[in-house]
Amino acid sequence: MFIAFEGGEGTGKTTQVLKLTAWFKARGHTVVQTREPGGTQLGSRIRALILDAKNSDAPSPRAEALLYAADRAHHAASVVRPALADGNVVISDRYIDSSIAYQGAGRGLGGEEIAHLSQWGTENLVPDLTIVLDLDPAVGLARAKGGGEGDRIEQETLDFHRKVRETFLSLAKKRPGRYLVVPVNADPDTVGDHIRDEVAKRLN
Ligand code: C5P
Ligand code: MG
Repeated sequence: MFIAFEGGEGTGKTTQVLKLTAWFKARGHTVVQTREPGGTQLGSRIRALILDAKNSDAPSPRAEALLYAADRAHHAASVVRPALADGNVVISDRYIDSSIAYQGAGRGLGGEEIAHLSQWGTENLVPDLTIVLDLDPAVGLARAKGGGEGDRIEQETLDFHRKVRETFLSLAKKRPGRYLVVPVNADPDTVGDHIRDEVAKRLN
């Protein structure tokens, strides 16, 4: 089973990835916990190229989109597919929808083109479930500020981040069976319990 977590800045994806991973492990599953960008050795170098860049040498929007797609292609081929083939649960912190939201909508490159790029790159590897953590970006950005990494993206306008949020929500709306939208309106443990209950329901 392949589960992806998506959401804007400061929504608590990484915390929830850890919680759900622990829950699956406690139920006897072998879990591969991973992330994008940076789920492979090559990917961590791509991640640094994108996120450590200062504004003066930041990749152009299309170059940035291609770097994310390259990270994903390598991640899908060398981590996610082999782990799924071995019968593991794979939980990824971000996947294709992040590119559709940030590069497609945020940067205005077009969701369809960006989706096609990643579909080609991953040979159409689609998560069984995508969990969207939903939060007002004004709140999320205030929480995320000062992490260092990704500062260039956090400094984008509120309008950019609103487009990102709307894109995640509209992707979820198109395929409710493959998505779970979780409002981040409580403490991490409560949100985690809700996710766990919903995932358990879908496993039954
Ligand atoms: O999720 P994480 O904090 O690791 O992401 C690092 C940064 O990369 C964030 O600021 C996020 O907005 C950005 N990002 C992006 N486009 C993607 C994936 C992540 O702009 N496709
Ligand atoms: Mg961040």
